[in-house]
Amino acid sequence: MEDSIRVRPARTSEVGTLAKLVRSRLPDMMANAEHGENVESHLSGLIPDRALLVATHGTRLAGLGALDLDRHCILACYLDPEIASPDTPRRLFQALEHHALRFGIRVLSGKARKRVAGFMRSLGYECVPDRDNPEHIAIRKNLLEEADEAIVRVIELCDELGVPEHYGPEHRMPLTLEADEVIYAGHDIFEREQRLIPAAAESLQRMREAAMNSGLELKIVSGFRTVAYQANLFRRKLDQGHTIKEILLVSAPPGYSEHHSGRAVDLTTRGCKPLDEEFGHTKAYQWLVSNARFFGFRESYPRHNRHRISWEPWHWYFTR
Ligand SMILES: [Zn+2]
Repeated sequence: MEDSIRVRPARTSEVGTLAKLVRSRLPDMMANAEHGENVESHLSGLIPDRALLVATHGTRLAGLGALDLDRHCILACYLDPEIASPDTPRRLFQALEHHALRFGIRVLSGKARKRVAGFMRSLGYECVPDRDNPEHIAIRKNLLEEADEAIVRVIELCDELGVPEHYGPEHRMPLTLEADEVIYAGHDIFEREQRLIPAAAESLQRMREAAMNSGLELKIVSGFRTVAYQANLFRRKLDQGHTIKEILLVSAPPGYSEHHSGRAVDLTTRGCKPLDEEFGHTKAYQWLVSNARFFGFRESYPRHNRHRISWEPWHWYFTR
């Protein structure tokens, strides 16, 4: 019944069950947890980044895998010998690698029991004795070797521009690849044509009409942007003498901007400076906070967001 295996991000409703499993089988998982943090809160903290994965066979839990995004390593991996099939571990590791690569992690490391060295090698991991524990081995795999060309290109581009290697995991920002199809979504404040994926373009149109009916004008500042456009923006700022640290305070590196997806739009309103916090104090912003969700848009970087990106009240993302 191998095809009934499913590996997917864990849900908040499963935290209680998974916490029990961690307490009985994976006590090491809590070794690096913050002082005073309990298992439930530690696991819950992994869910928004999809860093906690479960393998299921039908309705039964066959395994669990977790990533430590701060240390760029596998935090834990557990398989229930009664339920897991021979293919479950391979599927679970594949999913962990996929998720790590999503954040731009190039080398995935971890620890494993000595007896699984042969299996880990079969998955492409280098295995060396673990200095801290003779029962364990240290494992590592270069994820770029099997990565999609588009991901490799983005990572090389970021290296070339001097973006810190761990920007993605540090800000919990996944890589965003370019949309396949974008269509006209309206003219921006500079009279340039802006594009979004079809569903986002149509929904934005309806949202702007609804705002207009409330007497508010939502103007477009920016929509879809290519990776190359974002890279040029960086090059220009570097040429002007800005440091990469300064640039990263106001712009996402190429490959990490939600604008690549064709789902993100920067908005402003009459009398408001574009891309300025001032927008957060306008009636148009208040209207968006109350109504944007009905059109499938959400604010990506509210005040004090977990990405540690400064407040961007003008930036809205289409989620449908
Ligand atoms: Zn934006």
